Amino acid sequence: METVNQSDKYISKEIEMTIRHLSDEKVRHAIIVQGYIRQYVSDFLRLKGYIEISPIIISPLTDPLNHPVYDPMIHAYGGDMWITKSMIFHKQIAVQELKKIFIMSPNIRLEEEKRAETGRHLYEFTQIDIEALEKSREDMMDLAEDLIIYTIGRIKKEHPEELKYFHRELPDYKKPFDKITYLDAEKKYGKDFERKLSLEAKSPVWLIDIPLKEREFYDREYPDKPGILRDMDLIYPEGYQEASSGGEREFELSKILERIHKKGQTEDQFKWFIELAKHGIKLSTGFGIGIERFTRFVCGVEKIEDVSPFPKIPGKISL
Ligand code: AMP
Ligand code: MG
Repeated sequence: METVNQSDKYISKEIEMTIRHLSDEKVRHAIIVQGYIRQYVSDFLRLKGYIEISPIIISPLTDPLNHPVYDPMIHAYGGDMWITKSMIFHKQIAVQELKKIFIMSPNIRLEEEKRAETGRHLYEFTQIDIEALEKSREDMMDLAEDLIIYTIGRIKKEHPEELKYFHRELPDYKKPFDKITYLDAEKKYGKDFERKLSLEAKSPVWLIDIPLKEREFYDREYPDKPGILRDMDLIYPEGYQEASSGGEREFELSKILERIHKKGQTEDQFKWFIELAKHGIKLSTGFGIGIERFTRFVCGVEKIEDVSPFPKIPGKISL
């Protein structure tokens, strides 16, 4: 059966738009910058002793996410598999043996159509996903700061012509970045705090101590502050908003089960992970930085679709 979004007319218009998009000079430069970001981030992480692992695309276990998305599944071999929404659990498993890892991880998140207009959401994007064993949140915040400073520093030094093309002047950001707790940010700026914090900031800024209900069960609760997580989001300055989310992970079986129940989820949904936790896992901490959002920020472009050769805008079937 032919659907509206697959009619000959729709496809021919889409192909025309794709060709126009790919021939846009701005898009070409942003794709070039994105390549440098991948290269410099990888160089940096290797220098720090991180091992790159390959992304996985399907698995019986993926991130449940704390916000609604349409969930595609693949039925095969008599079972169900998800398409990766994030490699959170695979990171937590792999890091037990490999100690320090990163992945250039494609994620599929079929975001609701209303996110089409944010300039920050695609339904197919790539995360630079990082995890380390027996490191604290503070250790990983320090690593993230170095990563951002190193990557931007090399682009400024080795490819000033690209920044010049975008009329983009980026300062030399200094460590440590400022921090504000989620509750303080909400108190200071009101409901729309992330956008306001970002608009006011002159340098990337940390949003820390996120309330439990805002995040998934795998992010670790403070042992001495119930209801608050050992989490951190990095917010870009100049209104570009969220760069990254991360945190320490729950690792004790009893705590994992308690958190799954608190979230109203079923043990059945996470039986692969629970089985692993029964074997015993150690604390790990990590974060993920969206490559497209990083590129958007570095180039100073308004729309995330302008940094992707084949942008997948929520609600729209595209090549
Ligand atoms: P999360 O753990 O859900 O915060 O995702 C990690 C990072 O991936 C975010 O901080 C963003 O940089 C990026 N990201 C998440 N969702 C999207 C999306 N729909 N489109 C583009 N980038 C995204
Ligand atoms: Mg996030």
